Amino acid sequence: MEYKCSYPDCQEDAFWECSCSGNLKNCDTHSRTHSKEKQCLTKYVKNYYMELLTKKYQNALNRLESDSIKLAQEMINEVNICLRNNFDTIKSVKQKIKELVFNDSKDQAEILTDFANSLFIMRRYKKDFVLSVEKLLGFKKYFDKDDLVSEYHEDEFEFENVTTFEEAFSKIIEIKKDLKESYEKNKILVEEFDVVRHNLVLENEEFKLENFELKNELYKLKVTLSNYDKVSEEFNSNTTENLIGEINIDNFSTLLLEKKKELIARMDFKDFSRDFIYKKWFIYQINLTTIKDHIFICDKLSRLYVLCR
Ligand SMILES: [Zn+2]
Ligand SMILES: [Zn+2]
Repeated sequence: MEYKCSYPDCQEDAFWECSCSGNLKNCDTHSRTHSKEKQCLTKYVKNYYMELLTKKYQNALNRLESDSIKLAQEMINEVNICLRNNFDTIKSVKQKIKELVFNDSKDQAEILTDFANSLFIMRRYKKDFVLSVEKLLGFKKYFDKDDLVSEYHEDEFEFENVTTFEEAFSKIIEIKKDLKESYEKNKILVEEFDVVRHNLVLENEEFKLENFELKNELYKLKVTLSNYDKVSEEFNSNTTENLIGEINIDNFSTLLLEKKKELIARMDFKDFSRDFIYKKWFIYQINLTTIKDHIFICDKLSRLYVLCR
């Protein structure tokens, strides 16, 4: 859209339109010459031209506007998906709690509840989201030219020969530069602090998750251990009874000393294992008495040990 004067070799803007055929457009000077010559009417079209020009430039922003709407819609969809996932998770955890309670696994249901109670999503670092939104969707900062405009004017000033203000002005620029640098440094520090804070929040959540998993593991271990204890108790009582049954005066006296020690260690006589197995106190002889819960042990110096269960 060119609004240049119709006169050959004239490069001036043409804001005057005449009534001749073709509605010639001329600059201020040539419009006067032309209408005097042709006796035609002229009208001032600068505002109309400005309107058209404005529209032309503004149209360039329409694509950006429609892209903004599309991208924002996609982001809103992501938020909705995440929210739906949360609802689904809550529903399935509630169901799991019900199953655990009905399967007499109250402890595990409690672990799940404790973990849920330890999650405070409202305390999460929302600034991250705001920054992401700004980074992905925003472009305001690119059009925020205030600083650039003032800098531009400052540059213009520098080329002027106003010596009386020159020194003062360069000082102002220097101060502004320092201020800008301080602001940048401060911004970096704040960002670093935010990152540290954010990491702490994440670590805390990871710690809670680890804690939750550990609690679960502990619970499983407890269950395994209690099962093992039952089996072990059964085994021991069987073994002890068998041993007591096995031992009688006839066959015990015929056993080797080591075999006797082994049998007695398994029968859990008080301090027997500690003193005679681990500390290796010397045993000269072990004799069985008629009292099944007692044993008499004789050492090299004929000292007698009486042990009971
Ligand atoms: Zn004319
Ligand atoms: Zn002209």
